[in-house]
Amino acid sequence: MVENLNREELNNAIKKTRESFDTDNPTVPFIEGDGIGIDIWPASQVVFDAVVEKAYNGNRKINWVEVLAGQKAFDTVSEWLPKKTLDTFDEFGVGIKGPLTTPVGEGIRSINVAIRQELDLYVCLRPIKYFKGIETPTKNPQDVDIVLFRENTEDVYSGKELEEGTEEVLKLNNFLKEEFGWEIRKDSGIGIKPISNTGSERLIRAAINFAVENDKKNLAIVHKGNIMKFTEGAFRKWGYELIEKEFSDVAVSWEDSNGDPGEKILVQDVIADAFLQQILIKPQEFDVIATTNLNGDYASDALAAQIGGIGISPGGNINYENGKAVFEATHGTAPKYAGQNKANPGSLILSGEMMFRYMGWNEAADLIIESMEKSILEGNVTYDLARGRNDASILSSSEFAESLVKNIQ
Ligand code: NAP
Repeated sequence: MVENLNREELNNAIKKTRESFDTDNPTVPFIEGDGIGIDIWPASQVVFDAVVEKAYNGNRKINWVEVLAGQKAFDTVSEWLPKKTLDTFDEFGVGIKGPLTTPVGEGIRSINVAIRQELDLYVCLRPIKYFKGIETPTKNPQDVDIVLFRENTEDVYSGKELEEGTEEVLKLNNFLKEEFGWEIRKDSGIGIKPISNTGSERLIRAAINFAVENDKKNLAIVHKGNIMKFTEGAFRKWGYELIEKEFSDVAVSWEDSNGDPGEKILVQDVIADAFLQQILIKPQEFDVIATTNLNGDYASDALAAQIGGIGISPGGNINYENGKAVFEATHGTAPKYAGQNKANPGSLILSGEMMFRYMGWNEAADLIIESMEKSILEGNVTYDLARGRNDASILSSSEFAESLVKNIQ
């Protein structure tokens, strides 16, 4: 059953989660990942252990426990996503994962989607911030400092689709015609796009709460409600209603602000296509984004590309209400580089940074950011980040990790 905590209950839940990690030896399950996982996980783990040791003078240490998923799981236990893996994530609260192969033609659509849905990780959190020294396709990448909250369980991710030509799709097609008079071509596949009040509220609540906690100036609700009024449009409407109901002491809508939000967080809404233009033209005007699943899918990768960070963009899948979270590299398994100790572990390392911050281990998280900033600025980077730079030394995955460790000493 989906909970839907109010603002106060949500903050209590977040506090409780942090307190549960106020311990010296928490167990954190990890999935190594397929393909380049074999290169980037060991490199990342070296960095995680080093920052924790440095930040807490050797008094804290993560007890890493490997769990299986993807190709490695299939080869070992003949299952793509063993129940034990989900149970272990569930037991220990947070976990981290490398990229996973999506099995083609198997019963499971995507292991990543299955993990998010099974654990009801309703927020896909994507922070997008520029690291000085990275080559970018845009002129002022330093203007991008945006945290995007993408709904993770509804919309097209709900996977309610029927294939063209099947008995089921014809049955649904007939039903739609008889009950609603909807004429849909007989040779169509049909997908359902559910967007609920509960799902929208809990996502937008998490986003505005984050904005309040992190002194952000504005929140944009990104939607396509001009066309899809009762799904995307309802997401927008429920968002404004929630702000009014629970956050009116700290936030104000554009309409009610009369152009002057004062000290309050300004809440506006932007249509998804216009948003994709505006993040190129004036990204500095956006701090926190709350959006539906498909819009968030496009926008988060577009933003990552804007700062040249598609290979190092981190992500987290979070249920703030029950505290469960799985952090992950956002790129895929890059099979052509697997086992070559070549791929950039940056995305996984920064996902670890997000994980430490989520656990309240801010000192360890800060060290990751500082050491990453230094290594990139020095030009000590993997092959991908060396492109377009003449001052860079090309490092292997493990050497990049060593460079980070050196920079935290
Ligand atoms: P991909 O694995 O992300 O690789 C595409 C390209 O991105 C690579 O060839 C490489 O480009 C660059 N790249 C990705 N990760 C990198 C890293 N760590 N360091 C440096 N460069 C990196 O995408 P794909 O080839 O479309 O997908 C391969 C498999 O991954 C598929 O099975 C897919 O389903 C799966 N996948 C998994 C996840 C996930 O687990 N979250 C996400 C996406 C895809 P260059 O060759 O130009 O350097």
